[in-house]
Parts: sequence; structure tokens; C-alpha cells
Amino acid sequence: MADDRKTEMEAVLRKQRAAHHQMRPEPMALRKDRIQRAMKLLTDHADDLCKVMAADFGNRSPHQSMITDIAGTVNFGKYCLKHMDKWSRPEKRHVQFPLGLLGAKAEVRYEPKGVVGILSPWNFPVNLSFGPLMQIFAAGNRAMIKPSEFTEKTSLLTKELVEEYFTPDECAVFTGGPEVAAAFSELPFDHLIFTGSTATGRKVMESAAKNLVPVTLELGGKSPVFLGESADFAKAGERVALGKMLNAGQICLAPDYLYVPESKQDEAIHGVWQGTANMYPTLLDNEDYASVVTDRHFDRLQDLVADARDKGAEVIEVNPGNEDFSNTNARKMPLTILKNVTDDMRAMQEEIFGPVLPVKTYRHIDEAIDYVNEHDRPLGLYYFGQDSNEREKVLTKTISGGVTVNDVIFHVSMEDLPFGGVGPSGMGSYHGVEGFREFSHARSFYTQPKIDVAKLGGFKPPYGPATEKAVKSMMK
Ligand code: NAD
Repeated sequence: MADDRKTEMEAVLRKQRAAHHQMRPEPMALRKDRIQRAMKLLTDHADDLCKVMAADFGNRSPHQSMITDIAGTVNFGKYCLKHMDKWSRPEKRHVQFPLGLLGAKAEVRYEPKGVVGILSPWNFPVNLSFGPLMQIFAAGNRAMIKPSEFTEKTSLLTKELVEEYFTPDECAVFTGGPEVAAAFSELPFDHLIFTGSTATGRKVMESAAKNLVPVTLELGGKSPVFLGESADFAKAGERVALGKMLNAGQICLAPDYLYVPESKQDEAIHGVWQGTANMYPTLLDNEDYASVVTDRHFDRLQDLVADARDKGAEVIEVNPGNEDFSNTNARKMPLTILKNVTDDMRAMQEEIFGPVLPVKTYRHIDEAIDYVNEHDRPLGLYYFGQDSNEREKVLTKTISGGVTVNDVIFHVSMEDLPFGGVGPSGMGSYHGVEGFREFSHARSFYTQPKIDVAKLGGFKPPYGPATEKAVKSMMK
């Protein structure tokens, strides 16, 4: 079965590559038309897509889906349309003296790579398939998408819609489980972008290596929040709560754990508690609050909490409406704050990816910096406070994919900033000009003047005084 699917995917890849070769140079008008069609697909079917995402999750607010998956992605398409002419302009480069005087020319052209594979996760199923697609198209490529099996209805609708708006040699979608995903990651693409967990990212890179397919890996990790002494704890708490409760914490950039001054722990926790209660006075029937995506994911989160409790953590449930969560199958989970956490708890070892928030304390900010540096490089890192020396210390002594100061997550929504991880949180990036370049080949062009440069430079045998002069001048 998986073999049949692989054969089918290989055939589409061959078709796309042949069409790409035939169309070279891929006209800008066609690239723009593809982006416009992708934007139209999302706009025309926004409601249908929000409905299937809600059905896949159990509950997911259409308002949230419109912001995070539809409007945000359409807006990103607009951003690409606005900047792609500039991004794709050839860049003149210097030639060594005196070649310029003799008429030599050098330039870099950003050319399409060909066919790009997109492997996407379930947490923002539309955004994380169509977002990269916008820049893949901008750079003049074609695309094959394998969306997540956990948001099956969304994946099936995506396939249907892509078939309506694109020819199969422009863009094609393949649905299926991990076997199809594994076969997909073995295809000899010209580039592969994977968004998902670090563990699967490792497998994807291994498969891609067999064909030397370059990869962009958008992975996860434990993104820390540093709360400085000078932070406004009420405001910080509200912002952390917003970032942690959005999509029920199922966000790669969600604040994973807090690091707070020991003397301010209760104030910090109260800030998060109050921020949550203000936005979500109740949860069970509250359409604004998303469900955890599957029973398996829900059980994992419950296990993280039970494990922490067993190992001595204090568990604080933020349940402002005093609701009974034990008799519901809605997979809604209140924000669960963990105090007194230790490194032997799973909650401090795995990416949380749900509404659970461990809190660690420090006496001196250096302890928090050391802790972060001793662990895997996170995808995001957040600092709250007004002390610019402390802020710079935290930011310059740590490493992470990106940073937001005095809030969480927001850096990803700045279209002009590259978005990506570092080390175990990923490699490569998209968004900004960097995304266009990620999906382009920077091809060098050099034009030799009429004059015999090799002879003039002493590179041409028989070697002699001109050679010695050239060597000397290069080493001076
Ligand atoms: P996942 O790694 O389980 O799955 C992602 C994709 O990989 C799916 O399409 C799946 O079908 C496919 N897959 C599964 N097994 C595979 C295999 N053996 N070979 C190749 N592909 C395979 O991730 P998920 O649970 O869907 O998403 C959650 C994770 O994604 C979290 O770790 C989160 O931090 C991360 N994430 C990262 C970003 C980012 O932009 N950096 C964004 C969203 C989510």
C-alpha cells in the first residue's frame, strides 16, 4: 500500500519537475498568479476551512482559526506579492581589481530550486501548509504537500481545494498517516520543508540525506519566559496567559515554562491566573477555548501533570468558573500551573504543547541563563522587564530561534522577520527575504572580458614572473 502511494508521489514529482524545466524561466506573472490563487482559495473557503478545523479539534473557535490560519496566511500572501519583485532582483557583486576595469561582471541570481515538499503538522494545519507555499511560489517553485493525519478532515478539504485551484504539476496534496509521511520524506525533492516535532524532524532529515535533499526544519522545544524583577507582573501574566491559552497551548512558540524571581513567584502566578480568568471566565462551554486535538494528546498532558504531582510539584488549576472537568469528553483542559518543579519531571524534559505551565524560580538571573544554556536551544525566548542591562544580558548570553521582548510569540507575526529555530529547534527559516532565499538557489554568474585574464594574471602555463607577481600580490 505504502509502496503504491510512493510510486504515485514519485510520478507527480517527475511531472512537476518536467513542467518546471519546460517553463523555465518561471515568469513572475505566473508566480504571482499562483499566490493569488492560493489567497483566493483561502478567502473563498475560509468558512469551510474553519468548520473542518473545528471538527478536527473537537472545538476550535472560528474567530481564532480566521486569525491564526486564514487571515494571517492571506496577509502573508499579500506581503509576498508586494516584495517578490525586489527579492528576485539579481544582485551585482564585486570582481577583484582590476577585472572590473577590464569588463568582467559578477552577479547573483535567485533562481527557483524546482519542486519543494511541504510536510506540515496539525496545530495550525492551514497556516503551516499555505504559509510556506506562498514563498515557495514566490521563488518560482512547484510544491507537493503532505498535511497531518491528526487533522484529517482539514487535510482532505485542503486536497480537494488544491485540486480545484491548481493543476497537479503546480501543487498537489497527499493525505495519509506516518507511512505515507515517511515515504514522502524519501522523495528526491529539490528542497523539503518540515514543520513538526524534533523527534520526527530527525527522521525526516535522515531520509532526506539519502538523496541529499536540502531541508528546512521548523521544530519545537521548550521556549522559556524570563520574568525580570522589573517586570509588570500583572501585564506579563496577562500576556503569558494569552500566549499559553491560544489554541490551548498547542503552539510551537507557546511559553513553555516561566523563570521568575524567587521573591515574586506568587505575584507572577497571580498575574497569569488573573490574565487567564479575565479572558476565559469559563472553559467547558466557552467556544473561544480550543480542545486538545486527540485523546492521545489529552492523556499525555494529564500524565505530565500526574508525573509532576507524584514527584512533588504543587499543582494549581486555573478554573475560574469552578467547572467539573472530570465528566466531559470535550478534551478541554484548564491551564495547570506547576510549582516546585524539578528536572526529573517529564514536564521539564518534554516540550509541553498544551495548557500546562511549570514555574521555576531564580535568586539571580544568571541561574536562569545557565539553565537555559544547559538545555536544548529553544525555538523562542521571552523576556519581560524594564531593566535594559538585564534584558541585554539575557538576550546576549542565550541562544534561541527568535525573541519577543515584553510579550510572547509575537515575533512570528512580523512578516519581515525570518522565522526558524536553531539546533534542536530547527534549521533554516522562512518569512522575510530569508524565506524567499531559503526556497531559491543563489546562482553565481561571472562574465569574462575579451582580454586573456588567465595569461595576464599568471595562471596560464608556462608559469613565470607574472605568476610570481600574482602570488605575491595575493599574499601581501
Ligand atoms: P509530528 O512531528 O508528529 O508530525 C508532523 C508531520 O510529520 C505530520 O504531517 C506527520 O504525518 C509527519 N510524520 C509523522 N511521522 C513521520 C515520519 N516517520 N517521517 C516523516 N514524516 C512523518 O508533529 P505534530 O505533532 O503534528 O506537531 C507538533 C510539533 O510540531 C511540536 O513539536 C511543535 O513544536 C512543532 N511545530 C513547530 C512549528 C514551527 O514552525 N517551528 C510549528 C508548529 C508545530
